[in-house]
Amino acid sequence: MKVYKFGGASIKSADGVRNLFRIAKMACDNGERLIVVVSAMGKTTNAIEEVLYHYTEGNLSAAISRLEQIREYHEQIMDGLSLSDRSMFEDRFSAFENIIRRETPTGTYESTYDSIVSYGELLSSSIVCSYLNEHGLRTKLTDMRSTLITDDRFREASVDFETSTQRLKEAVGGDFDICLMQGFIGGTTDGRPTTLGREGSDYTAAAVANMLDCDSVTIWKDVEGIFSADPRLFPSATLIERLSYVDAVELAYSGAQIIHPKTIKPLRNKNIPLYVRPFDNPEAEGSCIKDSDDYTPPQVPILILKRNQILISLEPKDFSFVLEESLEKAFSILNRHRQKVNLVQTSAIRISVSVDASRYFSELIEDLKSEFAVRYNDNLELLTIRGYLWDVVERESVGHTIYIKQQTRRSVKLLRNSTL
Ligand code: ASP
Ligand code: MG
Repeated sequence: MKVYKFGGASIKSADGVRNLFRIAKMACDNGERLIVVVSAMGKTTNAIEEVLYHYTEGNLSAAISRLEQIREYHEQIMDGLSLSDRSMFEDRFSAFENIIRRETPTGTYESTYDSIVSYGELLSSSIVCSYLNEHGLRTKLTDMRSTLITDDRFREASVDFETSTQRLKEAVGGDFDICLMQGFIGGTTDGRPTTLGREGSDYTAAAVANMLDCDSVTIWKDVEGIFSADPRLFPSATLIERLSYVDAVELAYSGAQIIHPKTIKPLRNKNIPLYVRPFDNPEAEGSCIKDSDDYTPPQVPILILKRNQILISLEPKDFSFVLEESLEKAFSILNRHRQKVNLVQTSAIRISVSVDASRYFSELIEDLKSEFAVRYNDNLELLTIRGYLWDVVERESVGHTIYIKQQTRRSVKLLRNSTL
């Protein structure tokens, strides 16, 4: 079995869904049985986050009017598809609407978030399922809230591979062409919905492939494949045809938006290749991530720009210079705040970390202040250059203030002011 994953951008319109159908049909005509993983359509997850905001603020009319826009958006796609059986969508939408109209938020913000935001994927998968079935692909829809079992770390849940494997095996049994699943969402053993972190659908595809020992995962995207840099920012970017798992992780971790960093591990552990291919040109090969003996790293420098960085400098308040202890304290606080650290630099008395700006930033700083004297610089960006050439490093340094520069044999990292 193969896993095909379609992100929000690939199914943001009726044309996108038709395209998914064409791609899936080609595979089925070749005798494949497919698992198809879909995200929410277009920017639906962001839209639902707005519904949630109004809902938790107690502003029912604003929540409902945003919800109506979400319904209209999906209806417009169903109209574009001339979809006749809309019952599955209607059922899902009513359940969603009922929560917003009838229930008052109970539980934590995080668990409410997951119960509501998971509807993005539930709505998209119900439309895709009906469309595929209406066009002759026998498709079975799996509800991942009761199939992909996770812990209850809401908004950032971890998959319980053992229990999920059992449930997935049951889900893919039976006589059909396609098993359709929602990315990004799961549920606890006692039936509470969870999500795996924003942009988590790639990870779902990889985790499912791992548990079911699939032959490959293909992520169908609105780009040609993986590029040496974001073509919108660096015009000299070129397509990379082959990457090892490790190089892919480095790239993803440095902020390449193309795949979610968590995606690689479940694939690497079972040696399952990952393809990134353009959905509007299914004949093109795109990029392939796997290990093999004849692998040579890409011969062009790879540039990854991570924006919205904050450099935090920490000096222990008790003047303790035992770096190991200070690091342990600092990182346990950072971890408690789920703060992703992109760069670390230490000196005798100082720990410097570059982190993603987040709305929880001030709480983090307050906590750090209990142990450290804290200073920070914001509005920075982190540029990683892998397989660097000195003229590229030079070119990317001029005109910027460089806060930190780190160099290894393979890569240079520049933490610099943002010129945006
Ligand atoms: N729909 C979710 C998001 O937008 C998950 C995903 O697209 O991967 O974050
Ligand atoms: Mg997405």
